[in-house]
Amino acid sequence: MDLLEYQGKQLFARHGLKVSSGQAVTTVEDAVAAANAIGYPVVIKAQVLIGGRGKAGGVKLAADEAEARRYAERILGLDIRGHVVHTLWIEHASEIASEYYASVLLDRSAKQPLVIFSVEGGVEIEQVAEQSPQKLVRQHVDALAGLSRPEAVEIARAGGADADVVEGVADALMALYEVWEQEDATLAEINPLIVTPEREVKALDAKVSLDGNALYRHPDNQSLSDRENEDPIERRASEEGVQYVKLDGDIGILGNGAGLVMSTLDVVAQAGGSPANFLDAGGGSDAEKIRQAVALILANDAVKAVLFNIFGGITRGDEVARGLIAAFKEISPTVPFVVRLDGTNDVEGRRLLQEAALPNVHAARTMNEAAQQVVALAGAQSD
Ligand code: GDP
Ligand code: MN
Repeated sequence: MDLLEYQGKQLFARHGLKVSSGQAVTTVEDAVAAANAIGYPVVIKAQVLIGGRGKAGGVKLAADEAEARRYAERILGLDIRGHVVHTLWIEHASEIASEYYASVLLDRSAKQPLVIFSVEGGVEIEQVAEQSPQKLVRQHVDALAGLSRPEAVEIARAGGADADVVEGVADALMALYEVWEQEDATLAEINPLIVTPEREVKALDAKVSLDGNALYRHPDNQSLSDRENEDPIERRASEEGVQYVKLDGDIGILGNGAGLVMSTLDVVAQAGGSPANFLDAGGGSDAEKIRQAVALILANDAVKAVLFNIFGGITRGDEVARGLIAAFKEISPTVPFVVRLDGTNDVEGRRLLQEAALPNVHAARTMNEAAQQVVALAGAQSD
């Protein structure tokens, strides 16, 4: 779960990392009022879940009320690479002497937390990694011991932080590590971590991703998910406990088990189709679960045809067929369904489906056949 900058900064502040206080607003009037209250110059920042806002015109310094109004008007509603700005964050503008970079993330291949620090901040860190890798310090941390103060100081020194701010950078790294660890973050990144002319070290930006599976341990963080920017169907799915991922195509993909669903995406793509979503109905086979899944798939207007791919293992094919029949008696599908049923009790399952003669439901024997059929049906729908 990705957090907006200002939400990340709230977490930072909770762990003693220095940030500017500010206000999140959603209207031009509130933006102007906030800017007046904070005092000029202010910085007005688009709150969207995508980086590079500055370059896209989503971060502006305003020297007075007229500028604050002009920029708030310009940035609200701005589309930054597909992310429309609904919220602005306004804080007192900081003076910048240097821009550093700091992050903590989980290095899966090393199975250890990784702290990254560089004095080349404010630009994309991938660019630093490519052009001046020697300016990037990467330090693994013992997950059980945590990041010690001497280690943090060493990282700051090795990265070339100005001598007078080594302690301040070490403080920031330790606080960032604490955020990462205690909030169950998968990524905690500051770019830029600035040094002010007064030699204060503070986070000017925040990029935090929380582990959704650990959210139950953090009741305070549950309200942070960006409901407004979340896909409404994805939101409904998460509320109903169904795995659903929205994609850009027009073929709905429904299956039992994430592995099967992923291979179904591949097979459909190979057959020339383009998946509209990824929906894993899980191991269950009861009619209610299937009805929910079908309703979710159909809630997406882009879906022109659906492939329901079932491989019976513990879940029996005849049970799934019964669930499907019961579900389709309640909600008649508005688009064609191709059902591929294989595995445990598949013959019985296909027989049940055939007898039920559901309108708009086509049975297929193999995955390839099902994929070709659904691609053809989706094509026919859009003609
Ligand atoms: P991003 O472009 O999405 O990464 O947004 P940032 O929050 O990192 O802001 C982009 C750039 O705007 C920063 O690297 C700074 O150079 C500049 N910036 C942001 N806030 C301030 C501020 O308070 N004062 C000054 N002088 N520049 C700022
Ligand atoms: Mn940034």
